[in-house]
Amino acid sequence: MTTTHLVVRGTAVSGGVAQGPAHVLTFTDHVPVTRRTLDPTEVQGELDRLDRALAQAEEDLLSLGKTMAAKVGAEDAEVFAAQALVARDHVLHGQIVTLVRDHHVNVEAAVAEVIDRFTKTFDQIADPYIRERAADIRDVGRRVLAALGQQALANAGAPGTVANDFPDGAILVVDELLPSATASLELGRTRALVTDRGGKFSHTSILARSMRMPAVTGVQDATLKIKNGDHVIVDGVSGVVFVNPGPSVRREYDRLEAELRGYRAELEKLVERAAVTRDGVAITLLANASKLSDTEAAVLYKADGIGLYRTEFGFAVRSAFPTEDDQYEILKRAADRIHPRKIVVRLLDVGGDKELSYFPLPVSRNPSLGQRGMRLLLQQPDILRTQLRAFLRVSADRAVSILLPMVGGVDEIRATRVVLNEVMEELTREGKPFNPQVPLGAMVEVPAAAVMAAVLAREVDFLSLGTNDLVQYVLAADREDDTVASYYRPLHPAVLHLIRSVCDGAGQASRPLTICGEMAGDPANTELLLGLGLREFSVAPGEMLEVKDAIRKADLGQARALADEALGLASADEVETLLARRRATGTAAGGSTGTTAPLA
Ligand code: PEP
Ligand code: MG
Repeated sequence: MTTTHLVVRGTAVSGGVAQGPAHVLTFTDHVPVTRRTLDPTEVQGELDRLDRALAQAEEDLLSLGKTMAAKVGAEDAEVFAAQALVARDHVLHGQIVTLVRDHHVNVEAAVAEVIDRFTKTFDQIADPYIRERAADIRDVGRRVLAALGQQALANAGAPGTVANDFPDGAILVVDELLPSATASLELGRTRALVTDRGGKFSHTSILARSMRMPAVTGVQDATLKIKNGDHVIVDGVSGVVFVNPGPSVRREYDRLEAELRGYRAELEKLVERAAVTRDGVAITLLANASKLSDTEAAVLYKADGIGLYRTEFGFAVRSAFPTEDDQYEILKRAADRIHPRKIVVRLLDVGGDKELSYFPLPVSRNPSLGQRGMRLLLQQPDILRTQLRAFLRVSADRAVSILLPMVGGVDEIRATRVVLNEVMEELTREGKPFNPQVPLGAMVEVPAAAVMAAVLAREVDFLSLGTNDLVQYVLAADREDDTVASYYRPLHPAVLHLIRSVCDGAGQASRPLTICGEMAGDPANTELLLGLGLREFSVAPGEMLEVKDAIRKADLGQARALADEALGLASADEVETLLARRRATGTAAGGSTGTTAPLA
């Protein structure tokens, strides 16, 4: 038998490399559903079957949600509650009933047609996060068809499971990994994932990242090109998948895998060590989180707290606004988990790149410059008040701080304080406890806020530097637009000058400042950021150890000299070259990994 050598490419969604035998599964291939015309006497029977199947699907989803909540935390498991809502959605139900009752279409064909209609609508939505929720609806469709006795899951086993007859350490190659199938992946028998479909925001990708499993998605026809048992190498850093590679490629990746394992093991030692520079200055290292499982990772890596809890994810996985109690519950669990350390929770930041399916935003010529963050919340006092009530209630006995997104100036801060005070009075009247001194902070992500940092700082208890947005606004380069990606340069001297002035502003007002944008999570930037004056970093849990390693290798005197040199340069290219040279000559590094700073 001849072996096919192939190199296929997709989107790198979860880093690391892994190799092993392929196990190919198709979950969502269009299962042919027979369409037939009903005899009028059959209609009522079909409608009864539909109701039973929908009820069964809903019940299964709710129970799967409970099982998954115990494994991965309530928030990650929210997707199943959201799917259960789809199963009892009255629009979906109404459309299926119309086909059966008025057009005498058999129920299986009616379900397949309506699900298809629904998912096509989603496919047209510009926001990738929302678009990828189409997978959730397809998943519900499969489940309802299965409940109707249709063998829609023939390849994949029973609903909610991945067929388990594959070897440990297999590379799973799937057309699209639907949420209900991810439960089995939790068993950790899979080393890497390759999918035909799905992007960065699909549940597969989110799960792969939280499990640190290399994954490449969007590899066209992967399930056709790759066969069971093929030897597959997944490079989750560059998004390349090698199928039956020759010995030289295998040797290369054997070496890299061993190196990465060694590096990881070396880094794990840092968990117990303090984030202290070589010259003995303690740096606060916090974690960014969007859901409960991130809090879990933050605890694992011994973060000093949660420096940014983005609330948008908890809103986006639902099909309607969470109630005050829902929000209280989510934040309470996260705050309990990180207790006694602090959790900085950010008010909902929708608009711009972040949308909610159930909250249509006003059409804007340029959403990033339109209604978003605090501007939007102040126009929607009910949403703002509900969030504030939930956060304040958690603050009663947990170290909660409240962060305001997309602040342009003091006006938004003052207007929010008015609402905050009203909400506090309301809770007092109701006899509900809260922390009256709850710290209030402002994100610095609009250039105006950065320029006026000292003035803003006096109005709040702390500042948080959001470089993801700051860079896009300073350089006029949309963070989501690939065509201007070459203009989006966090190391542009204009950005660095602003960061320095925000550090100075916070210092003048004696207010703490955290940096929470993505550039803080890249250890290549750590020394420079320290040199610019930052002393608190909030980064993704998976990046904490690398950043800690860089902190422990830095010396503040050298870091300041590096920052001064960078501030004197003319372009992002020049700054990048400076940092690359620094890494190459190792002038800032001090010996082997993390051995130079004192133990915690
Ligand atoms: C930022 O803009 O840097 C930030 C942390 O917020 P987000 O990425 O959620 O917009
Ligand atoms: Mg932002």
